[in-house]
Amino acid sequence: METLEGVVVVGGGPVGLLTALKLGRAGVKVVVLESEPSVSPSPRAVAYMPPTVAALERFGLLDDVRKRAVWSPEINYRHGDGTLFSTLDWGVLDEDTEHPYMLLLGQNHVSNVIVEHLQALPNVDIRWNHRVESIKQDTAYVTIETRMPGGLSRIRTRWVAATDGARSTVREQLGLTFDGTTWDERLVATNIFYDFSFHGYSRANFVHDPVDWAVVVQLDQSGLWRVCYGEDPDISMDEVRRRMPERFRKILPGAPNPDQYRVDHINPYRVHQRCASEFRRGRVLLAGDAAHITNPIGGLGLSGGVLDAEHLATALIAVIKESASKRVLDKYAAERRRVFLDFTSPTATANFNWMKESDPAKRAQDTAMLQSATADRAVMREMLLNFEKLNGVPRPSRLCAPEVGSNIRKFVESMSVRVMTSLRRLKPNFWKTFRAESLNTQVVLK
Ligand SMILES: Cc1cc2nc3c(=O)[nH]c(=O)nc-3n(C[C@H](O)[C@H](O)[C@H](O)COP(=O)(O)OP(=O)(O)OC[C@H]3O[C@@H](n4cnc5c(N)ncnc54)[C@H](O)[C@@H]3O)c2cc1C
Repeated sequence: METLEGVVVVGGGPVGLLTALKLGRAGVKVVVLESEPSVSPSPRAVAYMPPTVAALERFGLLDDVRKRAVWSPEINYRHGDGTLFSTLDWGVLDEDTEHPYMLLLGQNHVSNVIVEHLQALPNVDIRWNHRVESIKQDTAYVTIETRMPGGLSRIRTRWVAATDGARSTVREQLGLTFDGTTWDERLVATNIFYDFSFHGYSRANFVHDPVDWAVVVQLDQSGLWRVCYGEDPDISMDEVRRRMPERFRKILPGAPNPDQYRVDHINPYRVHQRCASEFRRGRVLLAGDAAHITNPIGGLGLSGGVLDAEHLATALIAVIKESASKRVLDKYAAERRRVFLDFTSPTATANFNWMKESDPAKRAQDTAMLQSATADRAVMREMLLNFEKLNGVPRPSRLCAPEVGSNIRKFVESMSVRVMTSLRRLKPNFWKTFRAESLNTQVVLK
């Protein structure tokens, strides 16, 4: 049996490839086991938030990603008939980040860029067509059994990064639960060529409507756009295709006929909010969709996964190369799980509910709240700065603050961006006190 004194990465999606890249550059021996023959072309992630863009720069990938990507300086919110009712301008973060924009590019292209960089590393071996079927561990090694074209192979390794996606075999083999919920809606992701700019659409648009809600974003520099919309989960794929022209006539500006656009890709997805019960079990660590999965409205899934990859590789490098205590791995596991449960999942849930809200009173309230953010750049900055939480920040309730203050903070933190913003409008004094308290406690931490 082959023995690797290094790390096996199970799953060569973007999170696994990034983990391999950082480990490989630090001189760690890495084998990536990927069941597919190459990077998957299926239409999935397209939008990446400023902290994720900053991470791509730290990975040394941003220049190459930008060659094909486009970036959006704003997020636009529209009603179902296409009318614009609010714009959030990333430029409010000019002084907070070097990347005050949303980067747009299909995740398959991002993965291909990572693969190119990995090919320069002799200590990283990507094995396509290798499906992991079972894993076992003892105190010294993890043994992995893999099905490949020639039959079965076995490898034992010191550490495993489980990045094999939402249906993770590794997570299942470890007996970890994937708790949460599945949404009723089915999401249809399409890549199409259509001239949205001609109809006044900017590069990133959220269309709010109880039925014809949609996300419309430009995908790259080739004129390809992503349109994501909701469909009945009970109808067949053939029926999804049959209904598409009628749905597009309502959703796309200009109510086009099928001869006015070209569909490049279409894929339906079920949507979930789920999180693994643990992100570390012995010598195996989970990251990306294997660890947590969210609905994609607002682009937080891979945006968080990229940061998981960076934190996981950093922790493993510390243990393998610098003999750090294995507690850094527990810290990785606890902190990334907290980021998902406290920020990513509630924010994405609010985004999705917001977009398809059917109660007219709540819709009016949401519209007013977004319009107030457009009108007040301080509120806008606060909303957009929230995405920095993807990095993981010290939790104020952990700090030495008065008990009452920390309870208020815990309560407010657990609420979505939507509720926080409404609260700020309704209770400006409470909000000022809350902000002052959080800022003070963060200073104490430093
Ligand atoms: C329609 C849609 C739109 C999205 N839009 C966004 C967005 O705009 N922004 C954003 O941040 N996120 C978005 N997401 C989420 C994003 O796609 C995921 O978070 C991302 O793919 C997670 O990457 P990953 O590497 O963890 O998992 P995956 O991309 O799922 O990769 C897992 C890999 O593991 C392999 N694998 C699985 N099982 C095995 C096995 N047993 N052995 C070996 N290999 C295995 C798979 O073949 C796959 O290559 C979107 C998702 C969808 C569905």
